[in-house]
Amino acid sequence: THASMKADQTTTATCGYCATGCGLRLHVRDGQAVGLTPETQYPVNLGMACPKGWEALEVLDADDRATSPLLRAGKGQPQERVDWDTALKTFVSRFKAIQEQHGDHSVAFLSTGQIPCEEMAYLGALAKFGMGMLHGDGNTRQCMATAVTAYKESFGFDAPPYTYDDFEQSDCLVFVGSNPCIGHPIMWERVLRNQNDPEIIVLDPRRTETAMAATQHLQLQPKSDLEVLYAITQVIIENGWIDRDFIEAHTNGFEALAKHVQPYTPEQVAQRSGLSVHTLRRAAESIAHAKAASLWWTMGVNQSYQGTRTAQAIINLALITGNIGRPGTGANSITGQCNAMGSRLWSNTTNLLGHHRFESAEDRNRVASILGIDSQRIPDQPSWSYDRIIEGIKNDEIKGLWVIATNPAHSWIDQDQCRELLDQLDFLVVQDMYHSTETAVQADLVLPAAGWGEKEGTFINSERRYGLLKKVRKAPGEALADFQIFRAVAQYWGVPEMFEKWDAPEAVFQTMQELSAGRPNDLTGIDGYRQLDQCGGIQWPWSRDDAKRHRTPEQQRRLFADGKFLHQDGKARLIVERPSPMPEAPCEDYPFLLLSGRGTVSQWHTQTRTGKSLVLGKLYPQNPYVEIHPHDAKQIGIANGDGVTVISRRGKVDVLAMVTPTVQSGQVFMPMHYEVTNRLTLSHFDPHSRQPSFKDCAVAIVPRVS
Ligand code: SF4
Repeated sequence: THASMKADQTTTATCGYCATGCGLRLHVRDGQAVGLTPETQYPVNLGMACPKGWEALEVLDADDRATSPLLRAGKGQPQERVDWDTALKTFVSRFKAIQEQHGDHSVAFLSTGQIPCEEMAYLGALAKFGMGMLHGDGNTRQCMATAVTAYKESFGFDAPPYTYDDFEQSDCLVFVGSNPCIGHPIMWERVLRNQNDPEIIVLDPRRTETAMAATQHLQLQPKSDLEVLYAITQVIIENGWIDRDFIEAHTNGFEALAKHVQPYTPEQVAQRSGLSVHTLRRAAESIAHAKAASLWWTMGVNQSYQGTRTAQAIINLALITGNIGRPGTGANSITGQCNAMGSRLWSNTTNLLGHHRFESAEDRNRVASILGIDSQRIPDQPSWSYDRIIEGIKNDEIKGLWVIATNPAHSWIDQDQCRELLDQLDFLVVQDMYHSTETAVQADLVLPAAGWGEKEGTFINSERRYGLLKKVRKAPGEALADFQIFRAVAQYWGVPEMFEKWDAPEAVFQTMQELSAGRPNDLTGIDGYRQLDQCGGIQWPWSRDDAKRHRTPEQQRRLFADGKFLHQDGKARLIVERPSPMPEAPCEDYPFLLLSGRGTVSQWHTQTRTGKSLVLGKLYPQNPYVEIHPHDAKQIGIANGDGVTVISRRGKVDVLAMVTPTVQSGQVFMPMHYEVTNRLTLSHFDPHSRQPSFKDCAVAIVPRVS
């Protein structure tokens, strides 16, 4: 980027796309970033970056950056530029009017995993303690809710146990519904540095890039993953390949687990999963006989109607084989967005700030006293989940919505219905870097926000590492950091005194430290942003006691090395459930199963940012496409590159056919980065986590008549 301009200083910041959390060295001239290179000293990426990271500065100069507030005078009217004073007065008066007419809880917010922890905490506190909202959730509901629920129930806390060193130290790595070659390329680079000649087992219905690199690809039928994991568990138990001492000392529920998995013999599961008995037994043997097996999962598991129990089947496997707390082991959920974990801990949505509980008077009092507010201001119940908020619009319970740094009109399931509902709102406020997102164009009010590189704060990556975000350029036009927007809203709402001490992101960080004291996510040992900068980020927990002891914060740390889990009795739970049938299985009218997911290393989510880079655009087809097996293409009478229409019960979309054997016959795949994909998907959810099940949707495919 702007390589011809010579930098006069450099500084390191955490990347703002994915949860790998790479360190990027920013080259700055006269206070403005003029280029970047991957940071060789950062413990996460060791000098590597993916194309999105390399292009991180380029997308900040896009023509459609929101540079001033935009306001619609009335429904059907165009959005017009207004000044901040008008924007904020209108926002506050419209939301207050809705609350007066329909009750305090009739306005809600939807936030993100893309803004720093400090901004999340500010938004959550302002909305709930200042503005009287009860409901607000994050787009992390779409990616991490399942892992959170699974960890909480199994371990007693949302606590991913691993460090990235485990990629290098394992001698058997199992990836379930996960394609790190594409989704987390720098993590995959860490796998490639593994010197143990590891067994790499991939459970995925598609022959993904990772599956091609694996030593064992279990190309199972979609959503037979729970049965397959139970079959592997059954083989391990039947053969006595368990760590009995660990099970007895550190878990509850083994007898019930053993009884539950008894019927899931490889012979029973072979037909449903499409895997041979030998394949299932071989995978079980590899996991059981590894010195250090690690199990990793992402959206293939999380975005499923039985995701929580599937994640827990993975956790069970790690626990019964004693593969946790040691180098190279773990039941490891890989996070999606750069600050998905920050959203889990600090967004004040379904958990009270820092994984306190809204329902607990003791927790409310603790949070209130640290924040210096009246505890009566803290609601005694958590927010509705994202899907319930959307349903609330349908039921006329939610009339005003504040959307921050997310794009539901593209990314939410059953997109047409979502857009109709957003249109039904009395007042939709969208706070974003770009005024052209599918959601921003529907907004009554657009608030222009600064982006990555234009503000400060902390992100938490997948291995629980707090990393620093730096301000290395000025935001365009009148765009403000989300932090400043929240402060201004507090001012105009009339509650500035509630947040007086939060005058800068680091002041919020100090409050977060106080809130974390003595808890599993303790941060009290971190000596401010300065130390985060010096250490290349610090993994939680890092308490005052940790800091006093001889260990150093730079040291990579995994959880549960002492076998102590975070339930009151210190034991992990082994949790099982009967697999349930797919909500929308293929049928005569809709004979194909649509899978969706990441299609490329070069695009991110709804392409709001990455779509602005010419370089990234060249690495990815501009036209939406559907991957279809050669056999099915022949049956339908289509060739590679032909136009096809994909039809579900919710909508139909025109795309190009990409004929490829990487999908199985009867299944098709569409990348989620294209706007059209979620016009097809089905509103169905994991009952425990309320995460949408993006990966079961029956479709028909017909040649397009042009
Ligand atoms: Fe950024 Fe993720 Fe790419 Fe690293 S792997 S450079 S964190 S997008």
